[in-house]
Amino acid sequence: MTEESSTEKKKYEYVEDLPGIGPVTAQKLGELGFRTVESVATATSRELELAGIGAKKALEVIREARSCLDISFIRADELLKMRQNILRLTTGSKALDELLGGGLETQTITEFYGAYGSGKSQMCHQLSVNVQLPPERGGLNGSVLYIDTENTFRTERIVQMAKHLEVNPEEIAKNIIYAEAYTSDHQAFLLDNADEIIKKNNIRLIIVDSLVSHFRSEYLGREMLAERQQKLNKHLHRLIRLARAFNAIAIVTNQVMAKPDVFFGQAVHPVGGHIVAHTSHTRMYLRKSVRGPVRIARLVSSSYLPEGERVFKITENGVEDVTEEDRPKRR
Ligand code: ADP
Ligand code: MG
Repeated sequence: MTEESSTEKKKYEYVEDLPGIGPVTAQKLGELGFRTVESVATATSRELELAGIGAKKALEVIREARSCLDISFIRADELLKMRQNILRLTTGSKALDELLGGGLETQTITEFYGAYGSGKSQMCHQLSVNVQLPPERGGLNGSVLYIDTENTFRTERIVQMAKHLEVNPEEIAKNIIYAEAYTSDHQAFLLDNADEIIKKNNIRLIIVDSLVSHFRSEYLGREMLAERQQKLNKHLHRLIRLARAFNAIAIVTNQVMAKPDVFFGQAVHPVGGHIVAHTSHTRMYLRKSVRGPVRIARLVSSSYLPEGERVFKITENGVEDVTEEDRPKRR
């Protein structure tokens, strides 16, 4: 078979093509962050109403956008087929990939949480390189959208990792679209306006490193907790919808609150509370080991995978499997 399904013409290519959407409404939708048919398809009617579209019409527009993307009620056997569209990305460590059931999944948010220096940002750098590899090397041939809230992204690190994988570092760096978020509002704004960038650049990996740091420092005290959680919730929903609409992987990182006086049981808790816990589909807890570059990853929650732990290491090369030489010598 030489025919490709991608040559099939889509019914609606641009938002303006949707029935009843004129240039003015399209412009307004664009200002609200809905610049692609994909994002309209996963919008709520209330969101479209903000562009001055009536409630009934908003539903119609969403239905039309969905018809073109095949998003509707589906049978469980078809759901399985949709899951077969899920692509998987290697972490660079076979042990970790195995823990994740074959790698990180598209259409899902994966959260890496852990203490300072546990390797969360290093993991983000590594995934930014890996996603650009061809599928036979565990990649998705895709680009990256990297939202950095702590100013810890380093192109130099990307170059090191790319060289180790024997791919052109300049090309790799070119395909990472980077934005530093200065406040929580700015962070939300960046994601709210990302759909066109994602589509145009074939982005398959969306990173928010770190998810809650701005929210935590801006919303202080109990009185602000509800508002913080509501904003965080909205931000995460936007992220999951982008991941679904574009069959992309979404990664967020999260700090942990250490409770040094607790010796048994769960001694650390990811910050961000329950909303983050419920929206993230896969959660990985990273921690340092006593052996230098070796890290321990624990799969804490997944919708379908068993919990478990594996070790990996972070070296100059990036994320790698632990080898025999790294293991403690028995005497
Ligand atoms: P966080 O979880 O706080 O985001 P990072 O991902 O920034 O932590 O991890 C920082 C750690 O990664 C360093 O302490 C070091 O152990 C390791 N690391 C970073 N860069 C390199 C490198 N070039 N070579 C070896 N290890 C590195
Ligand atoms: Mg970090």
